[in-house]
Amino acid sequence: MENKTFYNEILTDHNLHPGHKHALDDANMVMEGVNPSCGDDIFLNLKVENGIIADGSFQGDGCAISQASADMMLDLIIGKTKEEALELSDIFLRMIKGEASEDELELLEEASVLKDISHMPARVKCAVLGWHTLGEMIKN
Ligand code: ZN
Repeated sequence: MENKTFYNEILTDHNLHPGHKHALDDANMVMEGVNPSCGDDIFLNLKVENGIIADGSFQGDGCAISQASADMMLDLIIGKTKEEALELSDIFLRMIKGEASEDELELLEEASVLKDISHMPARVKCAVLGWHTLGEMIKN
């Protein structure tokens, strides 16, 4: 069921009060993600210890969707293993293509509100920027 008000509230809340937009001095994995078609340019910072994402943050500039999506992603992956984070990134990217199951959407928690972005092709790259950057970072 689509719920535009809920979607807008979540996006606005993550933009006004991002929980994870700050520097992370003891990060040991840092990667830049750029979406030239919109001008989004973020840095994803992770502190990984014993295979677990102990802490994470993002910095940089971008539109409301790219920033909210990165913030929701960090809410979800902090405390998870690298493998779990990679799997969640994979589910998110498949959700945007309309290929994720209902059970998989539940694993994404709040970030699943972005699923209808697949109907807005111009915004897809904004929504996936943080997740795509996360996937690249962990795979390499
Ligand atoms: Zn954007």
